[in-house]
Amino acid sequence: MQIETRLNLKLLNTFGVDATAATAVRVRHAGEVRDLLRNRQLCAQPRLILGGGSNVLFTRDWPGLVVLPDIREREVEAGAGDAVTVIGGAGEPWDGFVHWTLGLGLAGLENLALIPGTVGAAPIQNIGAYGVELRDRLLWVETFDWIRGRLQTHYNADCQFGYRDSVFKRELADRLVTRVAFRLSRKPELELDYGEIRQELADRSIHAPAPRDVADAVSAIRRRKLPDPAVIGNAGSFFRNPVVSEAQAAYLRNQHPTMPQFVAYGGVKLPAGWLIEACGWKGRREGDAGVHASHALVLVNHGDATGGQIWVLAQQVRDSVSQTFGVTLEPEVRVV
Ligand SMILES: Cc1cc2nc3c(=O)[nH]c(=O)nc-3n(C[C@H](O)[C@H](O)[C@H](O)COP(=O)(O)OP(=O)(O)OC[C@H]3O[C@@H](n4cnc5c(N)ncnc54)[C@H](O)[C@@H]3O)c2cc1C
Repeated sequence: MQIETRLNLKLLNTFGVDATAATAVRVRHAGEVRDLLRNRQLCAQPRLILGGGSNVLFTRDWPGLVVLPDIREREVEAGAGDAVTVIGGAGEPWDGFVHWTLGLGLAGLENLALIPGTVGAAPIQNIGAYGVELRDRLLWVETFDWIRGRLQTHYNADCQFGYRDSVFKRELADRLVTRVAFRLSRKPELELDYGEIRQELADRSIHAPAPRDVADAVSAIRRRKLPDPAVIGNAGSFFRNPVVSEAQAAYLRNQHPTMPQFVAYGGVKLPAGWLIEACGWKGRREGDAGVHASHALVLVNHGDATGGQIWVLAQQVRDSVSQTFGVTLEPEVRVV
């Protein structure tokens, strides 16, 4: 177990904002987590788990302990028929894990290629992209229970997955995810109908795509469309797309006939980016905190913005959408 004091987190969050952790500990396996539990001084501190830092905004220094899960593990278990179970340690980089499964000839995770972050964080907000969500492929999540000092397995149905949501954001928010298992298949059933996947494959003259072709197509589309955190600090979509009632959606349709709406998650989903753009925020900046010029849903750090400045801008955006449309935007990013 590696303990560090006053760890600078600037390189550990994709917004690239300055923040310091009073103490940080890197854990490489469940045994080290148990050792950590025996250290009363460390355990008395407020605890924050940090994976790749691609879904957090630090608005201040962290006064306690930051746990960095560095559990590297990749396992394959044969399943029945074409089904195969693969298991990833929490510290595995997500995209590398996806490509490892593709290299084994397994289908299932291809649409989720190139999402930044780690395997351990993926269930927290039920990551999703291009028509697939983690819950569609997830078998179980293993967590460490700090109170009982033991590991617990949560099967898919117990994870209460929703749109960018799970039990690990709510009742079990303190748990450390140690491993995640997926049910994949040797027989691909590809999801090609979302966004520009079919067009991208056609442009590459691929008519009978393999899962790896889909991952490559998705990665190419993402590289074209999304700002790269290595170039400009960001955490992807800052807000979740709001889901409103059918009655509120009908009222908004009437007031704003061009507003896109999608039936989803037991209501009507509105694209937050459209709402933000309609309020005139696209491309605006306050100092080094800004709204991306092509993606109104992505807040960016143009250089030296503090997390506090980005959060102030986020609140201005949220207030303006609320005043214009009567719709409340909730951050998708964890604001610390
Ligand atoms: C350019 C860009 C594009 C993105 N595109 C998408 C997208 O298409 N779809 C999507 O869903 N998301 C997307 N995201 C968001 C982000 O990639 C995901 O939320 C990802 O799962 C975060 O992983 P992370 O390891 O960086 O987590 P972090 O940012 O480090 O942490 C996020 C949350 O998870 C908790 N956490 C992290 N690891 C663990 C663990 N082992 N145990 C318990 N809790 C943990 C943290 O405490 C925090 O609350 C994007 C982000 C960026 C920067």
